[in-house]
Amino acid sequence: MNWLIHEARILTAEGEIIGDAWIKEGRWAAIGRIPAHAKGFSFPAKGAYLLPGLIDTHVHFREPGLTPKGDFYTESRAAVAGGVTTVFDMPNTLPPTTTLEAWARKRALVRGKSWTNFALYFGATADNLPAIRQLSPKEVPGVKIFLASSTGELLLNEEPCVRALMRHSPVRLLFHSEKEERIQAALKQWEQATWAEVPDLHTRARPPEACVESTRWLLEEAQQAEVPLHVLHITTAEEVALLRHRPAHLSAETCPVYLQWSAEDFPRYQNLLKCNPSLKYAADKDALWQGLVEGTLAVVGTDHAPHLLPEKTLPYPQAPSGVPSHGYVLPWLWTLGQAFQLPLAFWIEKMVYAPARLWQIQGRGPIQEGFWADAVLFDPDGTTTVPPMEAPTYPTKCRWSPLAGSSLRGRVIAVWVNGTLSYANSLFIGRPAGQEVRFAFP
Ligand SMILES: [Zn+2]
Repeated sequence: MNWLIHEARILTAEGEIIGDAWIKEGRWAAIGRIPAHAKGFSFPAKGAYLLPGLIDTHVHFREPGLTPKGDFYTESRAAVAGGVTTVFDMPNTLPPTTTLEAWARKRALVRGKSWTNFALYFGATADNLPAIRQLSPKEVPGVKIFLASSTGELLLNEEPCVRALMRHSPVRLLFHSEKEERIQAALKQWEQATWAEVPDLHTRARPPEACVESTRWLLEEAQQAEVPLHVLHITTAEEVALLRHRPAHLSAETCPVYLQWSAEDFPRYQNLLKCNPSLKYAADKDALWQGLVEGTLAVVGTDHAPHLLPEKTLPYPQAPSGVPSHGYVLPWLWTLGQAFQLPLAFWIEKMVYAPARLWQIQGRGPIQEGFWADAVLFDPDGTTTVPPMEAPTYPTKCRWSPLAGSSLRGRVIAVWVNGTLSYANSLFIGRPAGQEVRFAFP
Protein backbone atom coordinates (compact mmCIF):
# COMPACT_ATOMS: atom_id res chain seq x y z
CA MET A 1 0.00 0.00 0.00
CA ASN A 2 1.34 3.44 -0.91
CA TRP A 3 0.79 6.53 1.22
CA LEU A 4 0.72 10.28 0.76
CA ILE A 5 1.27 11.99 4.10
CA HIS A 6 0.12 15.59 3.82
CA GLU A 7 1.19 18.74 5.64
CA ALA A 8 3.69 17.29 8.08
CA ARG A 9 6.67 18.79 9.87
CA ILE A 10 9.18 16.29 8.55
CA LEU A 11 12.36 15.78 10.54
CA THR A 12 15.21 14.85 8.21
CA ALA A 13 18.90 14.49 9.01
CA GLU A 14 19.40 17.94 7.42
CA GLY A 15 16.67 19.60 9.46
CA GLU A 16 12.96 20.26 9.43
CA ILE A 17 10.89 20.44 6.24
CA ILE A 18 7.22 21.38 6.16
CA GLY A 19 5.48 19.51 3.40
CA ASP A 20 4.31 16.12 2.15
CA ALA A 21 5.90 12.70 2.00
CA TRP A 22 5.28 9.82 -0.38
CA ILE A 23 5.68 6.18 0.65
CA LYS A 24 5.89 3.84 -2.33
CA GLU A 25 6.42 0.09 -2.07
CA GLY A 26 7.61 0.33 1.53
CA ARG A 27 10.19 3.07 1.01
CA TRP A 28 10.36 6.84 0.96
CA ALA A 29 9.79 7.89 -2.66
CA ALA A 30 9.65 11.67 -2.13
CA ILE A 31 10.07 14.01 0.83
CA GLY A 32 8.90 17.61 1.08
CA ARG A 33 7.41 18.03 -2.38
CA ILE A 34 5.80 15.08 -4.05
CA PRO A 35 5.40 14.68 -7.82
CA ALA A 36 1.96 15.31 -9.38
CA HIS A 37 1.73 11.71 -10.58
CA ALA A 38 2.25 10.26 -7.03
CA LYS A 39 -0.55 7.92 -6.05
CA GLY A 40 -1.52 6.40 -2.69
CA PHE A 41 -3.85 6.63 0.26
CA SER A 42 -3.96 10.03 1.83
CA PHE A 43 -3.06 10.59 5.48
CA PRO A 44 -3.50 14.17 6.71
CA ALA A 45 -0.77 15.02 9.25
CA LYS A 46 -2.33 18.39 10.08
CA GLY A 47 0.98 19.86 11.11
CA ALA A 48 2.14 16.99 13.34
CA TYR A 49 5.78 15.82 13.33
CA LEU A 50 6.79 13.06 10.92
CA LEU A 51 9.77 11.43 12.62
CA PRO A 52 11.87 8.38 11.81
CA GLY A 53 10.71 5.35 13.84
CA LEU A 54 12.79 4.74 16.96
CA ILE A 55 15.44 2.00 16.98
CA ASP A 56 15.68 0.28 20.36
CA THR A 57 18.96 -1.62 20.51
CA HIS A 58 18.22 -3.17 23.93
CA VAL A 59 15.05 -5.22 24.58
CA HIS A 60 14.12 -8.49 26.30
CA PHE A 61 11.04 -9.82 24.49
CA ARG A 62 11.26 -13.11 26.47
CA GLU A 63 10.90 -15.52 23.58
CA PRO A 64 11.58 -18.43 23.63
CA GLY A 65 10.85 -19.92 27.03
CA LEU A 66 9.67 -17.00 29.15
CA THR A 67 6.54 -16.15 27.18
CA PRO A 68 4.12 -15.76 30.13
CA LYS A 69 6.02 -12.49 30.75
CA GLY A 70 5.86 -11.34 27.14
CA ASP A 71 6.42 -12.64 23.62
CA PHE A 72 7.64 -11.17 20.38
CA TYR A 73 4.12 -10.50 19.10
CA THR A 74 2.84 -8.69 22.20
CA GLU A 75 6.01 -6.79 23.07
CA SER A 76 6.83 -5.66 19.51
CA ARG A 77 3.24 -4.45 19.17
CA ALA A 78 3.59 -2.48 22.41
CA ALA A 79 6.84 -1.05 21.05
CA VAL A 80 5.04 0.24 17.95
CA ALA A 81 2.45 2.04 20.10
CA GLY A 82 5.35 4.01 21.62
CA GLY A 83 6.85 4.98 18.26
CA VAL A 84 9.47 2.22 18.05
CA THR A 85 9.85 0.49 14.67
CA THR A 86 13.05 -1.56 15.14
CA VAL A 87 14.33 -3.63 18.09
CA PHE A 88 17.44 -5.67 18.86
CA ASP A 89 16.57 -8.51 21.24
CA MET A 90 18.82 -9.88 23.99
CA PRO A 91 19.89 -13.54 24.28
CA ASN A 92 18.99 -14.38 27.92
CA THR A 93 15.98 -16.46 27.00
CA LEU A 94 15.22 -20.15 27.63
CA PRO A 95 17.21 -21.72 26.12
CA PRO A 96 19.71 -18.86 25.85
CA THR A 97 20.79 -17.79 22.36
CA THR A 98 24.32 -19.15 22.71
CA THR A 99 24.53 -21.69 19.89
CA LEU A 100 24.09 -21.25 16.15
CA GLU A 101 21.13 -23.65 16.29
CA ALA A 102 19.41 -21.68 19.08
CA TRP A 103 19.91 -18.45 17.12
CA ALA A 104 18.46 -19.97 13.94
CA ARG A 105 15.50 -21.42 15.85
CA LYS A 106 14.79 -18.08 17.48
CA ARG A 107 14.91 -16.35 14.11
CA ALA A 108 12.44 -18.86 12.66
CA LEU A 109 10.17 -18.32 15.68
CA VAL A 110 10.19 -14.53 15.37
CA ARG A 111 9.76 -14.27 11.60
CA GLY A 112 6.25 -13.19 10.65
CA LYS A 113 5.20 -12.33 14.22
CA SER A 114 7.16 -9.14 14.89
CA TRP A 115 5.39 -5.81 14.51
CA THR A 116 8.78 -4.09 14.53
CA ASN A 117 11.86 -4.80 12.46
CA PHE A 118 14.18 -6.97 14.47
CA ALA A 119 17.69 -8.27 14.95
CA LEU A 120 18.77 -10.92 17.46
CA TYR A 121 21.85 -10.77 19.67
CA PHE A 122 24.00 -13.78 20.50
CA GLY A 123 25.14 -14.61 24.05
CA ALA A 124 28.72 -15.40 25.12
CA THR A 125 29.58 -18.40 27.30
CA ALA A 126 32.98 -19.64 28.46
CA ASP A 127 33.20 -22.08 25.56
CA ASN A 128 31.23 -20.81 22.55
CA LEU A 129 33.92 -18.71 20.86
CA PRO A 130 34.04 -21.15 17.90
CA ALA A 131 30.34 -20.45 17.22
CA ILE A 132 30.80 -16.71 17.70
CA ARG A 133 33.56 -16.68 15.08
CA GLN A 134 31.03 -17.99 12.56
CA LEU A 135 28.44 -15.23 13.16
CA SER A 136 27.60 -13.08 10.16
CA PRO A 137 28.00 -9.34 10.80
CA LYS A 138 25.36 -8.79 8.11
CA GLU A 139 22.75 -10.49 10.33
CA VAL A 140 23.86 -10.45 13.97
CA PRO A 141 24.02 -7.07 15.73
CA GLY A 142 26.34 -8.25 18.48
CA VAL A 143 27.35 -10.61 21.26
CA LYS A 144 26.16 -9.87 24.78
CA ILE A 145 28.52 -10.51 27.67
CA PHE A 146 27.10 -10.59 31.20
CA LEU A 147 30.14 -9.73 33.35
CA ALA A 148 27.82 -10.21 36.35
CA SER A 149 24.83 -12.47 36.85
CA SER A 150 21.39 -11.05 36.17
CA THR A 151 18.19 -12.58 34.71
CA GLY A 152 19.00 -15.99 33.24
CA GLU A 153 22.13 -18.05 33.57
CA LEU A 154 24.50 -16.17 31.31
CA LEU A 155 27.66 -15.09 33.11
CA LEU A 156 31.13 -14.69 31.70
CA ASN A 157 33.59 -13.08 34.07
CA GLU A 158 36.74 -15.00 33.15
CA GLU A 159 39.09 -12.34 31.90
CA PRO A 160 40.98 -14.48 29.33
CA CYS A 161 37.67 -15.43 27.68
CA VAL A 162 36.60 -11.81 27.44
CA ARG A 163 40.01 -10.85 25.98
CA ALA A 164 39.73 -13.59 23.36
CA LEU A 165 36.32 -12.24 22.35
CA MET A 166 37.76 -8.73 22.06
CA ARG A 167 40.22 -10.07 19.51
CA HIS A 168 38.13 -12.52 17.54
CA SER A 169 34.45 -11.58 17.56
CA PRO A 170 33.26 -10.67 14.04
CA VAL A 171 30.49 -8.53 15.58
CA ARG A 172 30.15 -5.78 18.20
CA LEU A 173 30.48 -6.84 21.86
CA LEU A 174 27.91 -5.55 24.33
CA PHE A 175 28.61 -5.55 28.04
CA HIS A 176 26.51 -5.78 31.14
CA SER A 177 29.21 -4.10 33.21
CA GLU A 178 29.14 -4.99 36.91
CA LYS A 179 31.75 -6.82 38.93
CA GLU A 180 30.42 -10.18 40.07
CA GLU A 181 32.61 -10.47 43.22
CA ARG A 182 31.42 -7.09 44.48
CA ILE A 183 27.81 -8.09 43.98
CA GLN A 184 28.20 -11.45 45.69
CA ALA A 185 29.82 -9.77 48.71
CA ALA A 186 27.09 -7.11 48.93
CA LEU A 187 24.33 -9.65 48.42
CA LYS A 188 25.58 -11.70 51.35
CA GLN A 189 25.24 -8.67 53.54
CA TRP A 190 21.84 -7.48 52.30
CA GLU A 191 20.03 -10.50 50.91
CA GLN A 192 17.86 -11.11 53.93
CA ALA A 193 17.06 -7.46 54.60
CA THR A 194 13.67 -5.98 53.77
CA TRP A 195 12.57 -2.76 52.09
CA ALA A 196 11.00 -1.67 55.36
CA GLU A 197 14.43 -1.81 57.06
CA VAL A 198 16.53 -0.47 54.19
CA PRO A 199 14.87 2.09 51.91
CA ASP A 200 17.60 1.84 49.22
CA LEU A 201 17.99 -1.92 49.58
CA HIS A 202 18.62 -2.85 45.95
CA THR A 203 21.27 -0.14 45.52
CA ARG A 204 23.08 -1.57 48.55
CA ALA A 205 22.83 -5.11 47.25
CA ARG A 206 24.16 -4.07 43.82
CA PRO A 207 26.37 -1.13 44.77
CA PRO A 208 27.83 1.61 42.55
CA GLU A 209 31.39 0.23 43.03
CA ALA A 210 30.42 -2.95 41.18
CA CYS A 211 29.65 -0.87 38.10
CA VAL A 212 32.59 1.50 38.42
CA GLU A 213 35.22 -1.20 38.90
CA SER A 214 33.92 -3.23 36.01
CA THR A 215 33.68 -0.30 33.60
CA ARG A 216 37.16 0.88 34.60
CA TRP A 217 38.51 -2.57 33.77
CA LEU A 218 36.61 -2.60 30.47
CA LEU A 219 38.08 0.76 29.47
CA GLU A 220 41.60 -0.52 30.16
CA GLU A 221 40.99 -3.68 28.17
CA ALA A 222 39.32 -1.71 25.39
CA GLN A 223 42.70 -0.22 24.41
CA GLN A 224 43.72 -3.63 23.04
CA ALA A 225 40.32 -4.55 21.61
CA GLU A 226 40.12 -5.00 17.89
CA VAL A 227 36.34 -5.02 17.68
CA PRO A 228 33.73 -2.33 18.50
CA LEU A 229 32.44 -2.40 22.11
CA HIS A 230 29.24 -1.11 23.65
CA VAL A 231 28.62 -0.68 27.37
CA LEU A 232 24.96 -1.13 28.26
CA HIS A 233 22.85 0.69 30.88
CA ILE A 234 25.32 3.07 32.52
CA THR A 235 24.05 4.13 35.96
CA THR A 236 26.76 5.99 37.89
CA ALA A 237 28.35 9.44 37.81
CA GLU A 238 31.81 7.88 38.07
CA GLU A 239 31.29 5.80 34.94
CA VAL A 240 30.19 8.87 33.01
CA ALA A 241 33.43 10.57 34.11
CA LEU A 242 35.51 7.51 33.08
CA LEU A 243 33.74 7.26 29.72
CA ARG A 244 34.75 10.81 28.80
CA HIS A 245 38.13 9.23 28.01
CA ARG A 246 36.78 6.32 26.00
CA PRO A 247 38.46 5.17 22.80
CA ALA A 248 36.59 5.82 19.53
CA HIS A 249 35.52 2.19 19.09
CA LEU A 250 33.68 2.13 22.44
CA SER A 251 30.16 3.48 22.84
CA ALA A 252 27.80 3.61 25.80
CA GLU A 253 24.11 3.66 26.60
CA THR A 254 21.73 4.58 29.38
CA CYS A 255 18.02 3.82 29.78
CA PRO A 256 14.86 5.83 30.53
CA VAL A 257 14.37 4.24 33.99
CA TYR A 258 17.71 5.66 35.17
CA LEU A 259 16.84 9.07 33.71
CA GLN A 260 13.51 9.25 35.51
CA TRP A 261 14.10 7.58 38.87
CA SER A 262 16.86 7.06 41.43
CA ALA A 263 17.35 5.14 44.68
CA GLU A 264 15.51 7.93 46.48
CA ASP A 265 12.33 6.70 44.73
CA PHE A 266 12.56 3.14 46.09
CA PRO A 267 10.29 3.72 49.12
CA ARG A 268 7.40 4.31 46.71
CA TYR A 269 8.19 1.62 44.13
CA GLN A 270 10.38 -1.03 45.85
CA ASN A 271 10.60 -4.15 43.63
CA LEU A 272 8.79 -2.43 40.76
CA LEU A 273 12.03 -0.56 40.10
CA LYS A 274 14.29 -3.51 40.91
CA CYS A 275 16.47 -3.89 37.83
CA ASN A 276 20.14 -4.59 37.10
CA PRO A 277 22.29 -2.57 37.37
CA SER A 278 20.38 -1.00 40.24
CA LEU A 279 19.11 2.57 40.28
CA LYS A 280 21.75 4.77 41.89
CA TYR A 281 21.40 8.13 43.64
CA ALA A 282 20.10 11.54 42.56
CA ALA A 283 23.60 12.85 41.80
CA ASP A 284 24.18 9.87 39.51
CA LYS A 285 20.96 10.60 37.66
CA ASP A 286 22.10 14.21 37.12
CA ALA A 287 25.41 12.93 35.75
CA LEU A 288 23.61 10.59 33.33
CA TRP A 289 21.68 13.55 31.95
CA GLN A 290 24.91 15.48 31.55
CA GLY A 291 26.57 12.51 29.85
CA LEU A 292 23.65 12.18 27.49
CA VAL A 293 23.55 15.86 26.58
CA GLU A 294 27.32 16.15 26.03
CA GLY A 295 27.41 12.91 23.99
CA THR A 296 29.45 10.70 26.35
CA LEU A 297 26.39 8.44 26.32
CA ALA A 298 25.59 8.12 22.62
CA VAL A 299 22.57 5.87 22.75
CA VAL A 300 19.36 5.40 24.71
CA GLY A 301 18.12 1.79 24.86
CA THR A 302 15.01 0.93 26.84
CA ASP A 303 16.11 -2.37 28.43
CA HIS A 304 12.43 -3.36 28.29
CA ALA A 305 12.38 -6.37 30.62
CA PRO A 306 8.83 -7.44 31.51
CA HIS A 307 7.92 -9.55 34.52
CA LEU A 308 4.44 -10.30 35.84
CA LEU A 309 3.13 -8.13 38.64
CA PRO A 310 2.67 -11.11 41.04
CA GLU A 311 6.39 -11.88 40.54
CA LYS A 312 7.32 -8.29 41.34
CA THR A 313 5.27 -8.32 44.54
CA LEU A 314 7.24 -11.25 45.99
CA PRO A 315 9.63 -10.50 48.89
CA TYR A 316 12.80 -8.67 47.78
CA PRO A 317 15.14 -11.69 47.38
CA GLN A 318 12.66 -13.59 45.19
CA ALA A 319 11.38 -10.69 43.07
CA PRO A 320 12.95 -10.77 39.59
CA SER A 321 14.96 -7.83 38.22
CA GLY A 322 13.69 -5.90 35.23
CA VAL A 323 11.22 -3.14 34.39
CA PRO A 324 8.88 -2.96 31.38
CA SER A 325 9.32 0.23 29.36
CA HIS A 326 7.52 -0.34 26.07
CA GLY A 327 4.18 1.09 25.11
CA TYR A 328 5.04 4.73 25.75
CA VAL A 329 8.68 5.29 24.76
CA LEU A 330 8.47 8.43 22.63
CA PRO A 331 5.97 10.35 24.82
CA TRP A 332 8.01 9.25 27.87
CA LEU A 333 11.32 10.56 26.52
CA TRP A 334 9.68 13.73 25.21
CA THR A 335 8.16 14.34 28.66
CA LEU A 336 11.45 13.62 30.47
CA GLY A 337 13.34 16.03 28.24
CA GLN A 338 10.98 18.95 28.96
CA ALA A 339 12.95 19.85 32.09
CA PHE A 340 16.01 20.43 29.89
CA GLN A 341 14.07 21.89 26.95
CA LEU A 342 15.37 19.13 24.70
CA PRO A 343 13.97 19.16 21.16
CA LEU A 344 12.55 16.03 19.52
CA ALA A 345 15.68 15.94 17.35
CA PHE A 346 17.72 15.16 20.50
CA TRP A 347 15.85 11.89 21.09
CA ILE A 348 15.95 11.05 17.38
CA GLU A 349 19.75 11.34 17.55
CA LYS A 350 19.89 9.02 20.59
CA MET A 351 17.37 6.45 19.37
CA VAL A 352 17.67 6.63 15.56
CA TYR A 353 20.72 8.30 14.07
CA ALA A 354 23.30 7.08 16.62
CA PRO A 355 22.16 3.42 16.54
CA ALA A 356 21.90 3.48 12.73
CA ARG A 357 25.44 4.89 12.51
CA LEU A 358 27.10 2.72 15.17
CA TRP A 359 25.53 -0.55 14.02
CA GLN A 360 25.71 0.35 10.30
CA ILE A 361 22.06 -0.53 9.79
CA GLN A 362 21.29 -0.98 6.13
CA GLY A 363 18.58 1.21 4.57
CA ARG A 364 17.09 2.39 7.85
CA GLY A 365 17.47 5.38 10.11
CA PRO A 366 16.88 8.89 8.80
CA ILE A 367 13.87 9.80 6.66
CA GLN A 368 15.46 9.94 3.23
CA GLU A 369 14.54 8.87 -0.27
CA GLY A 370 15.23 5.21 -0.92
CA PHE A 371 15.28 4.22 2.77
CA TRP A 372 12.62 1.98 4.31
CA ALA A 373 9.63 4.03 5.48
CA ASP A 374 9.77 3.44 9.25
CA ALA A 375 8.02 6.47 10.68
CA VAL A 376 6.04 7.98 13.55
CA LEU A 377 3.53 10.76 13.27
CA PHE A 378 3.74 12.55 16.61
CA ASP A 379 1.75 15.38 18.14
CA PRO A 380 4.14 17.07 20.59
CA ASP A 381 1.30 18.97 22.27
CA GLY A 382 -0.98 15.96 22.71
CA THR A 383 -1.38 13.86 25.85
CA THR A 384 -0.79 10.17 26.51
CA THR A 385 -2.39 8.70 29.60
CA VAL A 386 -0.78 5.57 31.01
CA PRO A 387 -3.51 3.28 32.37
CA PRO A 388 -3.69 2.19 36.03
CA MET A 389 -1.88 -1.01 37.03
CA GLU A 390 -3.18 -4.17 35.37
CA ALA A 391 -5.71 -2.34 33.18
CA PRO A 392 -6.66 -4.38 30.09
CA THR A 393 -5.68 -1.45 27.87
CA TYR A 394 -1.92 -2.00 28.42
CA PRO A 395 -0.29 -2.99 25.15
CA THR A 396 2.30 -5.19 26.94
CA LYS A 397 1.49 -8.71 28.13
CA CYS A 398 2.49 -7.97 31.74
CA ARG A 399 0.02 -5.05 31.89
CA TRP A 400 1.80 -2.79 34.28
CA SER A 401 4.35 0.00 34.22
CA PRO A 402 6.04 2.15 36.86
CA LEU A 403 4.46 4.99 34.86
CA ALA A 404 0.96 3.66 35.66
CA GLY A 405 -1.62 6.39 36.05
CA SER A 406 0.63 9.18 34.85
CA SER A 407 -0.02 11.65 32.09
CA LEU A 408 2.72 12.07 29.48
CA ARG A 409 3.26 14.91 27.07
CA GLY A 410 2.88 14.16 23.34
CA ARG A 411 0.90 11.52 21.50
CA VAL A 412 1.78 8.95 18.85
CA ILE A 413 -0.83 9.44 16.11
CA ALA A 414 0.34 6.84 13.59
CA VAL A 415 3.25 4.48 12.91
CA TRP A 416 4.46 3.00 9.63
CA VAL A 417 6.74 -0.04 9.56
CA ASN A 418 8.29 -0.72 6.16
CA GLY A 419 5.63 1.57 4.69
CA THR A 420 2.79 -0.44 6.26
CA LEU A 421 0.46 1.57 8.46
CA SER A 422 0.64 -0.52 11.67
CA TYR A 423 -0.88 1.79 14.27
CA ALA A 424 -3.26 4.74 14.02
CA ASN A 425 -5.46 6.56 16.54
CA SER A 426 -4.80 4.02 19.31
CA LEU A 427 -5.55 0.96 17.16
CA PHE A 428 -3.21 -1.68 15.79
CA ILE A 429 -3.80 -2.31 12.12
CA GLY A 430 -3.49 -5.48 10.05
CA ARG A 431 -0.69 -7.95 10.64
CA PRO A 432 2.92 -7.67 11.83
CA ALA A 433 5.01 -5.95 9.15
CA GLY A 434 8.46 -6.17 10.75
CA GLN A 435 11.40 -7.45 8.74
CA GLU A 436 14.85 -8.64 9.68
CA VAL A 437 17.39 -5.88 9.96
CA ARG A 438 20.48 -6.15 7.77
CA PHE A 439 23.83 -4.55 8.51
CA ALA A 440 26.09 -2.93 5.95
CA PHE A 441 29.14 -5.15 6.08
CA PRO A 442 30.88 -6.35 2.95
ZN1 LIG B 1 18.98 -5.76 29.46
